[in-house]
Amino acid sequence: MDGGRMHDLVRRLYPLCRSITGDGVRRTLDIVSEQIPLRVHEVPTGTPVLDWTVPREWNIRDAYIADGAGNRVVDFAESSLHVVSYSVPVSATMTLQQLRPHLHTLPEHPSWIPYRTSYYAPDWGFCLAQNTLDAMPEGDYDVHIDSTLAEGLLTYGEYVVPGQVADEVIVSCHVCHPSLANDNLAGIAVATALATGLSYQSPYYTYRFLFIPGTIGSITWLARNFEHVARIRHGLVLACAGDRGALTYKQSRRGDAEIDRVLRHLLHSSGRPHEIVEFSPYGYDERQFCSPGFDLGVGSLTRTPHAGYPEYHTSADNPDFVSAEAMADTLATCSEAFSILDRNRTYVNLSPYGEPQLGRRGLYDSLGGRSDAKQAQLAMLWVLNLSDGEHSLLDIAERAAMPFDAVAAAADALHEAGLLKGAEGT
Ligand code: ZN
Repeated sequence: MDGGRMHDLVRRLYPLCRSITGDGVRRTLDIVSEQIPLRVHEVPTGTPVLDWTVPREWNIRDAYIADGAGNRVVDFAESSLHVVSYSVPVSATMTLQQLRPHLHTLPEHPSWIPYRTSYYAPDWGFCLAQNTLDAMPEGDYDVHIDSTLAEGLLTYGEYVVPGQVADEVIVSCHVCHPSLANDNLAGIAVATALATGLSYQSPYYTYRFLFIPGTIGSITWLARNFEHVARIRHGLVLACAGDRGALTYKQSRRGDAEIDRVLRHLLHSSGRPHEIVEFSPYGYDERQFCSPGFDLGVGSLTRTPHAGYPEYHTSADNPDFVSAEAMADTLATCSEAFSILDRNRTYVNLSPYGEPQLGRRGLYDSLGGRSDAKQAQLAMLWVLNLSDGEHSLLDIAERAAMPFDAVAAAADALHEAGLLKGAEGT
């Protein structure tokens, strides 16, 4: 999937009213399943998951505020953001004064609709543009929310690309926000494209993609896969993957996990504008994967981080706010990072006494005429020198200040020539 296809997916998913449970999530996973055959899991309300409980399922069919003449001044059919997520049903006539405590606006951006939720306290409300509110005269309004909050299911999707080894890389994205493009849909689109690309390859690691509602979804997944967690070697939480800002990598709680080192190396050596930030127990599902009991090597890749842009959690985070180019760049960064993870091996030099004679083995000839011949030769010398069973190719790339690809290509050539063996005996 290229950037254009990812943008199409964002546009298609945009109108759906997603929440942490309900038909919006199901419909979203159905659409993703057209690209990659997701395994959809549903977990009943009331199921204990770690320190939490799966909540009641929320669904909404219609909602509006109508004036005395019956005109809908706020209409859920126009934007899924208009209703506070998890609003309980209401059907009443009330004055504007009575209604006001239930209305949410953004006075500093009077034409934008804010995004609000009330997952864990029974409440109801409407979100609307300040301009709309300002135009509402005093008087009686019909207020209607046709929703249900009932025993049901929490839904999430999973897709696995089998690898050569059972050790896993997890990629997770949240699917719980309604009409918000950068904050949820761009991550879904990039994850879908990544999974599609990997499904045509035979990666070294097994790659597990999780399309889950934020917080409660990752907690539910972790609770149901407690035994499985030991297989997770690396992971990335994808969010805010499509705005035009620079890439931001948030390190895992460990800070020195291999995924942290891979992203630092990749972003530095690629010349992309970027920022690397320390872990903090806030943000997206890295909070759960990096909770101290799990402490997984899971970082988070975004462009502008959450809450770092004024459009965040508003109707201005729409499909025009994200770009095909930015999503393609996020996708390329993830692909390059996984390619490094997959090739990062540790070797032993089989001819460690003095430098082996490269010319005799045709290793100089193979470089002839290459514009990067000097770098390729230097990469071979570094790999030979540091391949003592202790240094991985990433260690070597960092120490030599060379791109990982050059070091890995050198190792491949040396391995082919019989000068290296894998530290695990391969
Ligand atoms: Zn959000």
